[in-house]
Amino acid sequence: MALLITDECINCDVCEPECPNEAISQGEEVYVIDSSKCTECVGHYDEPQCVQVCPVDCIPKDPNVVETQDMLWTKYEKLTGNKRA
Ligand code: SF4
Ligand code: SF4
Repeated sequence: MALLITDECINCDVCEPECPNEAISQGEEVYVIDSSKCTECVGHYDEPQCVQVCPVDCIPKDPNVVETQDMLWTKYEKLTGNKRA
C-alpha cells in the first residue's frame, strides 16, 4: 500500500526531504503523498522514512491503495530505472 497523511499533520516539514521518491509535497492544508510515487520506501530503506520522522504519527497506510510487496517493487523499478535487489 501507499501511505497517507491525515489531517493531524502539523505541517512541520520534516518528512518531505526524507522521501527518496519525492512523493511528499505541501498540499492545500497539510502535506500530501502522491500514491503513484510512494513505494513505502521499498527499494530504498527497510522502513518508511516519513513514518520514522513524523512527530505526530499521522502517516498510516492508505486503505484505498492496496499494493503487494511485488507491486511496490515494480513501482520502484519504474520510478528509478533500477532493478529490484
Ligand atoms: Fe516517501 Fe517512503 Fe514515505 Fe512513501 S513511505 S511517502 S516513499 S518516505
Ligand atoms: Fe506532517 Fe508528519 Fe510530515 Fe510533519 S512529518 S509534515 S506532521 S506528515
